[in-house]
Amino acid sequence: MSGHDGRYAPSPTGPLHLGNLRTALLAWLFARSASSRFLLRIEDLDRGRSRPEHEDGQLRDLAAIGVDWDGEPLRQSQRADRYEEALSQLRALGLVYPCWCTRADLRQAASAPHGELPEGSYPGTCRELSSRQRAERERSGRPAALRVRADAEPVAFADRRLGRVETAVDDLVVRRADGTHAYNLAVVVDDADQGVQEVVRGSDLAETTPRQVWLARRLGLPEPAYAHVPLVLGGDGRRLAKRDGAITLEARLALGERPATVRGALAASVGLCAPGDEPDTAQLIAAFDPDRLPRAAPHVRLPGLVPDASTDPRG
Ligand code: GLU
Repeated sequence: MSGHDGRYAPSPTGPLHLGNLRTALLAWLFARSASSRFLLRIEDLDRGRSRPEHEDGQLRDLAAIGVDWDGEPLRQSQRADRYEEALSQLRALGLVYPCWCTRADLRQAASAPHGELPEGSYPGTCRELSSRQRAERERSGRPAALRVRADAEPVAFADRRLGRVETAVDDLVVRRADGTHAYNLAVVVDDADQGVQEVVRGSDLAETTPRQVWLARRLGLPEPAYAHVPLVLGGDGRRLAKRDGAITLEARLALGERPATVRGALAASVGLCAPGDEPDTAQLIAAFDPDRLPRAAPHVRLPGLVPDASTDPRG
């Protein structure tokens, strides 16, 4: 697909940190520098952890640093019917089976090697149940998750930054035992329904992308292009967290900074301006070249943040 309509899809489970804000800014720049649409999606499938106040705060922070979007955000919690429809399509292809594995079963399975599949993959325990074993589990009344049979199929995609990525796809969950549709299914259906042509997101999600590509192909949905961008890591090389200092926009503003200062620091960390500059959004769009992002993106430099120049090992 050649267009650049893009999106940002935050989970409203807490405030956005500088790493989330940089990913959002980059996703927005990929789309806007190509004069394309930029869409928002609220990924609130996790009802237990999603909060309206986080959603409000996230939208406010995005707008404050100059990220704007087209139309109303799509809300995953309102789309169960659409995900069920996709599930029926997979069922009709004979790909769906129930899985009763507990967390403990999965932990145990994940520690055992299984052929082609990456570590942590589902080894297919419930795919192999005899009809008697299956009937027993059904009688137990314990709700089952639903998985799809991917048969460790190798799936490759071309990433604009990482190049060709190929992974064997495991039998992924499409609906949890509590009835919640799984992230991978929802994302694929939503990106297609929103007309997203280019997915720009954090490199931590690159390893799950082959699953999404596999699902899109089975569902006959268009495959977006992908660009997985480097995460901002904390001073110790781990994920950015509270221990790294004032990492939210609110905390930065409390230190007396302005949103433009923060936007400038995010932009400087990927070489779009000099440290300390405060370009406006039009200047950023003019400076942005998606093919010239640094391989490894340094730490965001702002006073009070752990200053170590950490880089994402996946570049
Ligand atoms: N909701 C996911 C997150 O906040 C992002 C999913 C995606 O971009 O595909 O990490």
